[in-house]
Amino acid sequence: MTLTHAIQVEAHRLGFDLVGVTTPFPPPHYQKFEEWLSAGYHAGMAYLEKMSSRVRRANPLEILPDCRRILVLGIRYPPSPGTMTEFYDPTSGLVEDVKSSPYRGRVASYAWSEDYHQDIPTRLNDLVAFIETEMGKTVPHACYTDSGHILERDLAQRAGLGWIGKNTNLINPQMGSYFLLAEILLGIELEISAPFEQDRCGTCTRCLEACPTGCILPDRTLDASRCISYLTIENKGNIPVELRSKMGEWVFGCDICQQVCPWNRRLTAPAGAEAYAPPGIAHPDLTQALSLTPEDFSRQFRGSPVKRTKRTGYLRNVAVALGNQLVAFPDHKQRPLAVAALRETLIHDSQPLIRAHAAWALGRAGEVQILQTACRLERDPSVLNEIQIARDQ
Ligand code: SF4
Ligand code: SF4
Repeated sequence: MTLTHAIQVEAHRLGFDLVGVTTPFPPPHYQKFEEWLSAGYHAGMAYLEKMSSRVRRANPLEILPDCRRILVLGIRYPPSPGTMTEFYDPTSGLVEDVKSSPYRGRVASYAWSEDYHQDIPTRLNDLVAFIETEMGKTVPHACYTDSGHILERDLAQRAGLGWIGKNTNLINPQMGSYFLLAEILLGIELEISAPFEQDRCGTCTRCLEACPTGCILPDRTLDASRCISYLTIENKGNIPVELRSKMGEWVFGCDICQQVCPWNRRLTAPAGAEAYAPPGIAHPDLTQALSLTPEDFSRQFRGSPVKRTKRTGYLRNVAVALGNQLVAFPDHKQRPLAVAALRETLIHDSQPLIRAHAAWALGRAGEVQILQTACRLERDPSVLNEIQIARDQ
């Protein structure tokens, strides 16, 4: 068995589903990344503009000068169901919960489990330890999971893992697109994998048609400022008013452009996935979520990617989702409770950002009387402005 083959076997044993090897040569689409930055499509992610970050993305040797090969790895997470009643884990009782109240949010399925930023690095380090044992010496290396200065989908395509679809995700013909990527830059020679040359999207345009905000651009990039994933996670401020009604029930991320992709049809959940969808995280009760204190939030999302939004961002998203669900399900018996929770949030929450989005939600639901009351009590000018707009719409 060659070293490359032994590494692939060990990577699979450690739980990685896809493994490929590529060179540290500059990624083929770096220029497109520069054009994307110049057009401002990275929205508030200013860290992407930093010269130190760009230099590394342009050339992986700037990260690890001794790099000879890059190991690109993929690890699957559960596919996201298309509708609430298809919800992934009926044994958890969640389907019943969804039927009892439609005022529920949705979390992108990669975030159902414990934070991968904590789990995957351990596996990467174990793989490096295996390589060093096989080599009988230390090996220069650098590990990345999602957050590094590296164009990982470009490298993954060159390592043969799949192609970059029109929805910007890397798609593998057998495993679809529900996987996370990780990389190990290595100072050793390994056999290089054949690049994935084909574009299997063909004439399909389902993701472009399904994206609620129309943020998928024709060149397989996104306008992040309009993408629900960005708006609910990276964005720390106001959600633009014109996009709120397009966000549906998403409170953390968005899976729509993956749900509709034909390459994700007939996928089964990865082994052990029954532990992935704890009620309250995958499909949170929006009415209850509005009453989360900072302590409740920390406790509920300890170890979860959702904690990235912090309580303020999460409750901002929850308020928007609840406003949308009240419009989608105007007459459900749980409506008075949901409206009362929004009222309580608007009048008493300590965070102006949350109060502002609760005002929008009440306006969207037509609860003008509550807005009138809040107008007399509110002192923050930004919230007052939102209340007045919501009341008068
Ligand atoms: S994640 Fe959602 S909003 Fe973003 S591109 Fe995909 S469908 Fe559109
Ligand atoms: S939905 Fe169609 S166009 Fe979009 S990524 Fe999937 S195959 Fe490609």
